[in-house]
Order: sequence, then C-alpha cells, then structure tokens
Amino acid sequence: MFITFEGPDGAGKTTQIGLLSQYLSRRGMAVVTTREPGGTPLGDDIRRILLDVKYKGMDPRAETLLYLAARAQHAATVIRPALAEGRIILSDRFADSTLAYQGAARALAAAEVAAANEFATAGLIPDLTILLDGDPAELQTRRQRRGAGDRIEAEAIAFHRRVRTGFLQLAGKEPDRFRIINALDSVETINSQIVCYIDEFLHR
Ligand code: C5P
Ligand code: MG
Repeated sequence: MFITFEGPDGAGKTTQIGLLSQYLSRRGMAVVTTREPGGTPLGDDIRRILLDVKYKGMDPRAETLLYLAARAQHAATVIRPALAEGRIILSDRFADSTLAYQGAARALAAAEVAAANEFATAGLIPDLTILLDGDPAELQTRRQRRGAGDRIEAEAIAFHRRVRTGFLQLAGKEPDRFRIINALDSVETINSQIVCYIDEFLHR
C-alpha cells in the first residue's frame, strides 16, 4: 500500500510520518518511510540542487524536470520494489506536490504537469493521500521559528497561497484518495486522525 503525505512546508508531514510509522510497526506491519525530493542517492543530490538558494529564479520547467528526475528514480528503485514486497510505503511528498508547486504556484499548465508526472512514475498513483492543510501565514511563522529556509520556503506568501489552493483543488477532484487534516491542530490530534483514516482504509 502506497500512502503519501502532502501539504505546505512546515505543516508537520515529517513528524506525522514518524508517528504513523511507529504505530504501524508496533502492529507488525512492514513499513518503509521515504521522501521527495530525495529517497535515493540520485534524488538526494538533485534535492541539494533544487533547494540551493544560489539557483534563485530557476526556470519553472527546469525545476519541474529536476523534481521529476528525482521522482522517476524514487518510483522505480524504492517505491515499486517495496510495493512488490507487500510493504506499506509512507512518502513525504509525491506527484501532487509537483501539481501544486510547479503547476498551481508556478503557473505551468496542469495537464502538462500531470502528463509529465505520469511519464516520470510510469503511472504510479498513491492509494491514499493525507493532505496537511493550514493557513499559509501561520505556517510561515512556524517555519521562521524553525530557522533558515530553503530556496522554495523563501518564496513570497502569495506563492504559498497558490500552493495551498492547488492542493485543495486536487483533493476536491479526488475525494476518495485524499483525506484533509488541519495542520494547525496539535501533533497528537493530527496523529489520532491519521490513525483513524489509516485503520479505516486498511479495513475496507
Ligand atoms: O517537504 P520538504 O521540505 O522536504 O520539501 C523540500 C522543498 O521543496 C520545500 O521547500 C518544498 O516546498 C519544495 N518542493 C517544491 N516542489 C515540489 C516538491 C517540493 O517546490 N514538487
Ligand atoms: Mg521543508
């Protein structure tokens, strides 16, 4: 089973993946946690390029193709093999991030980004997607407390608003796959909501 976590920076995806992974492991399930951009040696190198502030103003299509190169390697060498072994994969971001960041926020055509995602992943689609959603200004404050941001976190608030709208539109189009959670709730509240959704999904 392939579960992805999506949402803006500072929404708490990484924390929640850690908690869910512990919960599923305690119940004897084989869990793999991974992330994008990254998840493979090639992906980690691409991640460094993508987040480097020296590439401020990177062309949106170049940016998209770098995310997709990392994703192609991730899907082929990590996610698909783990799925074949019957594991549960928890991924911190996947194709929806590209639709929200490069599609909605950088204004690339949604249909073109969707087609590029399909090419990169050879058609891999998550079984379930947890969207951590919250007000961009509040999340920005939270990120600033965490310290120096990366190239994309440093974008203006208007950019982060478009990312949020992009994610919510994706969730609206695929209500069966998405579960939306308020990222501004406490860590414990969010964790128990996620556990409810996962249990419900595993038993259906
Ligand atoms: O989630 P994480 O902080 O690891 O993501 C790394 C950075 O890449 C973030 O700033 C995120 O907003 C950005 N990103 C992006 N487009 C994607 C995926 C991530 O701009 N498709
Ligand atoms: Mg981040």
